Amino acid sequence: MDRSVFIETYGCQMNEADSELMFGLLRHRGWTVAGSADEADVVLLNTCAVRERAEERVFGRLGWLKSLKDRRPEVVLGVAGCMAERMRGQIVERAPYVDLVIGPDAYRRLPDLVDAAQDTDRTDALIDVRLDKRETYADAEIDRVPGISGWITVQRGCDKFCTFCIVPFVRGRERSLPPEEVVAQAQAMASEGFREVTLLGQTVSSYYERGHDFADLLSAVHAVEGLHRIRYTSPYPNDFSDRLLERLGSLPRVGRHIHLPVQSGSTRLLRDMKRGYTAEAYRGLIDRVRRILPAFALSTDIIVGYPGETEDDFEATLQLMRDVRFDSAFMFRYSERDGTHAARNKPDDVPDEVKRERLQRLIALQEGISKVRYGEMVGRTVEVLVQGPSRRDPSRFIGRTSCFRTTILPEGDFAPGDLVRARVVAATSHTLFGEVTA
Ligand code: SF4
Repeated sequence: MDRSVFIETYGCQMNEADSELMFGLLRHRGWTVAGSADEADVVLLNTCAVRERAEERVFGRLGWLKSLKDRRPEVVLGVAGCMAERMRGQIVERAPYVDLVIGPDAYRRLPDLVDAAQDTDRTDALIDVRLDKRETYADAEIDRVPGISGWITVQRGCDKFCTFCIVPFVRGRERSLPPEEVVAQAQAMASEGFREVTLLGQTVSSYYERGHDFADLLSAVHAVEGLHRIRYTSPYPNDFSDRLLERLGSLPRVGRHIHLPVQSGSTRLLRDMKRGYTAEAYRGLIDRVRRILPAFALSTDIIVGYPGETEDDFEATLQLMRDVRFDSAFMFRYSERDGTHAARNKPDDVPDEVKRERLQRLIALQEGISKVRYGEMVGRTVEVLVQGPSRRDPSRFIGRTSCFRTTILPEGDFAPGDLVRARVVAATSHTLFGEVTA
């Protein structure tokens, strides 16, 4: 008899990739994929713990799923991922009907745990949140959603321990997938029709395994036939060596875009966050990127309202944004996370209305910069990797340039997965509009 699973994914690309890993492990043991939670024998929520709002969304969803459990008590309901690791106690307390709580390093045991959870005589939730500093899921079967773009998790965990961040506590210590395993996965993806691979790691530029660093890994994946684009996220500023910059310049199929999280433009705050670099060092790195790789686009992550952030600190962040002129930025209000160094030692003392006001100013500044930068592309020719029909207007196609700029194309003689040359005819602050050239 068919047994089916439905996985709902919250949070980052790493979680999307982990859901594919969980599907693969379960499929290997005869499970099929259900079209919805209502039809499934097992429902798993793969969760994120980076912000409080993400966790509250999951509790909201669990509340909704209680009615499913009431109707069909035999359904196994599980919580996986970072929140499972961080809030195992609260999950079983607030949602006592949850059957299974499983952390990111325990997925190999998922099929056995699901079997055990189907035992209806059980009274307590099964909990497996053991972190394993060697687990990379090398050799695990991954059930990727077919498409043009896919992920390979090349590094798990993080050793940086930035004061505001929960990741090292919920994902454990940094470890890297062997390069030959990364290449084997990339080859398999190319033969399945994927044309773009994104290499994932919390600090992917610190990848190191068996004498090979991240520059070597990029070269090895670049040599895989059939892939048009290779991307990676997120590098860490301190690990971004000139050797890596120069390597990027010699690998044309690696996307011409670097996402380089800075978090703040204030050296005082960066020290407080234990980021390990100063604003000056970050600016120096940006100068080297612009010199060595002038055609590359840059994006970043910023936190506003970190404990103790003064108007001067915030002004330093604004100034850095004006000077660097990122293509785009992910900008967030600081949200205290229990268990982090900052939560234990630094009062969350920037009032919420100040955080909101600063965030609005930052977004307005970045919007203006993005608009100019995207506008500068009008009249230029770009190469677009076509993803498929645009969701907003299915008569048009959507794709991305090598610089990771979303581009809309009119219908034409091409298909998803093709590389198409296009002249940019219009731009907004987030999107280019192109005409296909011969
Ligand atoms: S580098 Fe810092 S912000 Fe990034 S995952 Fe590691 S601890 Fe978190």
